[in-house]
Amino acid sequence: MKTCRRCQQSKSLNEMKKSSKKPDGRDSICKECYRKEHRKYDRTPHGRCRTAWYRINERAGNKRGDCPTYANVEVKMTKEEFFIWARPRYEEWEKLHPNVTPSINRIDPKGHYEISNIEMISWNENASGPKQGHLTTETALVDFVIHKCSEHLLNPEKVIKLLLNQIKTPLA
Ligand SMILES: [Zn+2]
Repeated sequence: MKTCRRCQQSKSLNEMKKSSKKPDGRDSICKECYRKEHRKYDRTPHGRCRTAWYRINERAGNKRGDCPTYANVEVKMTKEEFFIWARPRYEEWEKLHPNVTPSINRIDPKGHYEISNIEMISWNENASGPKQGHLTTETALVDFVIHKCSEHLLNPEKVIKLLLNQIKTPLA
């Protein structure tokens, strides 16, 4: 048994986080507390930057063999450049829509991961793949305005332009 330094509960060794540095192979924090802390950190702007950077590098070049469409995609930005770009955007995202998971999308799907070709969009939108003319329902339209046009809300012309790009039948 070992006492967790966070929750102060006495737990069995296999409930404690593993650590190769400790003589008994276990850290003094339990797995449950560690997971909770990690989840909290993952959602901070810095945590999101780190996770996104890791995922981008994992996908690009299809290193794990499960992203064939990324075989020729390269990462043409440094970690530092990406963090400088992403961090303030994650902070802004958190303020504008705290309950939506952000995701990094390549604007031109044939292009590389580079500052000029990335944008932050909602995870759902990225997973379903942004397609031209995909806004066929009112919900999709509202979603699009919230997630894609939020930075332009004081610029109705820009919003209209973005919308016109997305709807199937151009307005007369
Ligand atoms: Zn604990």
